[in-house]
Amino acid sequence: MTTPIITLHEVSRRYSGGVIALRGVSLTIDRSELVALVGPSGSGKSTILNLIGTLDRPSSGQVIIDEFDIALLTDRQLSALRASRIGFVFQQFHLAAGVPALDNVADGLLYCGVPLKERRHRAAAALDRVGLGHRLSHRPHELSGGEKQRVAIARAIIGKPLLLLADEPTGALDSNSGAAVVELLRELNSDGTTVVVITHDRELAAALPRQISMRDGAIVADTARTPAC
Ligand code: ADP
Ligand code: MG
Repeated sequence: MTTPIITLHEVSRRYSGGVIALRGVSLTIDRSELVALVGPSGSGKSTILNLIGTLDRPSSGQVIIDEFDIALLTDRQLSALRASRIGFVFQQFHLAAGVPALDNVADGLLYCGVPLKERRHRAAAALDRVGLGHRLSHRPHELSGGEKQRVAIARAIIGKPLLLLADEPTGALDSNSGAAVVELLRELNSDGTTVVVITHDRELAAALPRQISMRDGAIVADTARTPAC
């Protein structure tokens, strides 16, 4: 039996101002899955990823991450859950300007109580893992877009998360760098990390084992639920 790492049950999210971004979404993702979340702009993809990442709480419905019902956790407990289990990657990299790659990555462990020397040691290993062992002292403006995204991935994986969430990680990249980033996500997945990746790129999504399609705040297709014939 596979164990779900993510369960959403009838989840809705209404933003202040009245926008209903999610309408009763139910979804299960098992450990070690590699899932593409696709859909037009405004369909609710980032909203769902923020809920899965415990950065946000639903207006109604239940979100369970690694067997924790997030409604039952305090903000402090949620931060701890996030720091120990979840890594994030964003379209715009979100690296600290002027800070060497090594320290950008080491900062991924800031909230885990790891001493600086150990953080840097692990950061060097994570950068090596993403093929940037030769760029430790480069600052973001000295790196290409693809390299910046690989630094961001190194930062996301330094805490060895069970779950890696990527919101349009290839959106700001040329097709070659984008393909390298996807290849890296695949490798991390084959090492056992559950990966959920939002993409606009239909071709990229089609190459991944499971695609969940969203429209107007609802799931309209999920290949995991498609009968074999
Ligand atoms: P996607 O990532 O698929 O483009 P989002 O999840 O970002 O979609 O947004 C879904 C809907 O919710 C959109 O209509 C968007 O304008 C709205 N929305 C997103 N964030 C907020 C917010 N913080 N406040 C109000 N409305 C929001
Ligand atoms: Mg979005």
